Amino acid sequence: MDTPHYAFFEGDIVPIEQAKVSIMTHALHYGTAAFAGLRAYWNADENQLYLFRPLDHFKRFRASAELLYIDLPYTPEKMRDIVISLLCHEGYHTDTYIRPLVYKSQQVIGVRLHNLTSDLAIFAIPFGNYLEHEEGINVTFSSWRRVDDNAIPPRGKICGAYVNSALTKTEAALDGFDDALVLDQEGHIAEASAANFFMVRNGKVITPPVYADILEGITRNTCITLLAEEMGLVVEERPIDRTELFRADEAFLCGTAVQIAAIVTADHHRIGTGKMGPLVTELRRLFFQVVHGELPQYRQWVEPVYSLEPIR
Ligand code: PMP
Repeated sequence: MDTPHYAFFEGDIVPIEQAKVSIMTHALHYGTAAFAGLRAYWNADENQLYLFRPLDHFKRFRASAELLYIDLPYTPEKMRDIVISLLCHEGYHTDTYIRPLVYKSQQVIGVRLHNLTSDLAIFAIPFGNYLEHEEGINVTFSSWRRVDDNAIPPRGKICGAYVNSALTKTEAALDGFDDALVLDQEGHIAEASAANFFMVRNGKVITPPVYADILEGITRNTCITLLAEEMGLVVEERPIDRTELFRADEAFLCGTAVQIAAIVTADHHRIGTGKMGPLVTELRRLFFQVVHGELPQYRQWVEPVYSLEPIR
């Protein structure tokens, strides 16, 4: 993985070597941190880097922090500006992944969330595909259940909860799959290790509802919007049984890292033809146009990085 040159750390943009924490940091011991993950896409024709839906990511980031009793002293707009400044420092002319992290920074022993200091850190790295074959992935069903809203809220991107995602991903990878779908406590499909799930059955697009222990994904919302506005398909949000997927015509995962990845087999059952289907093909085409700032009707979702004055 590429190393960034800079980070936003303890209130300033500093060389990455200076962005270090102590081994006594609370978050390191108890997972008391939350993160976000954004992408910026390079548009070579326009010589421009486009940051995708930063304000939506930072609104969710603030909400994740609040679950940990952290009142972030930065508005979403301010954090967007910090990211733009950071990207201007880096000067990337390539697709980029941005990782904001808010963490309990106090050097203290004691499991709690209250009466602890916290800090914000952000860095950005060049980033291509997260999954090797987005146009055809093979998934399994995890033997792990999705972390429950009454245990650790999956609605927030809370670092500690990502052990659940890591267990899921590693089990899937060691068994030879690209990723796994995780069931919620009721036995319905929640999502994948770090992506939301959709399937197409008899012309209907269906996704698990927000109460199925999922992260309320920004790419999920992007897909729902594009399917409705550009393809005339209203997505049904309802619990989904595992074997419904085996009967599906198409299925896909979506998320900032995963982008849109077509599921072609699930537990060795072929989905549809066993190749990426027409709906996912069209949705991906639209998605990549949108994130590159190529569709005027979705320009409000992308922020040009290099046309603004960097804040130093
Ligand atoms: N679910 C989980 C568990 C995730 O970690 C992610 C990635 N952030 C997603 C879904 C997709 O969310 P988004 O589209 O906002 O990146």
